Amino acid sequence: MKKSGFISSILKNKCPRCRKGKLFKNDNPYDLNKVLDMQDNCPVCGQRTELEIGFWYGTGYVSYVLAVMFSVLNLTWYWLIFGITWRDNSIFHWLIVNGIILTLSMPVLMRLSRTLYLTFYIGYDPEAAEDRH
Ligand SMILES: [Zn+2]
Repeated sequence: MKKSGFISSILKNKCPRCRKGKLFKNDNPYDLNKVLDMQDNCPVCGQRTELEIGFWYGTGYVSYVLAVMFSVLNLTWYWLIFGITWRDNSIFHWLIVNGIILTLSMPVLMRLSRTLYLTFYIGYDPEAAEDRH
């Protein structure tokens, strides 16, 4: 099992079981009406995406953790490029910039949290992709 395949399949919102099927009907997360419009079953291996009714409520925690991690990342590069001190308003400037970036990234983070959440429950099955071909 390649680690890179694991990471890239999550980033591309691929089915965690076969890593080939797309979980979302629309490739563009910024088509906001369809941002969480998922396939009921993986088009490649048939894996069900919503494992039980209300399954996706748990993704709230995942997206929260993702948002915090993403903010830390933003803090790091902002600090390196612009510098942040307590003596002026730079921390507030960062808060504003981070808020804007987080808002703009939300559709991507929301999708990512669903893919990650499903990945917690479903393991990779290399044979699943071949079953239906
Ligand atoms: Zn699949």
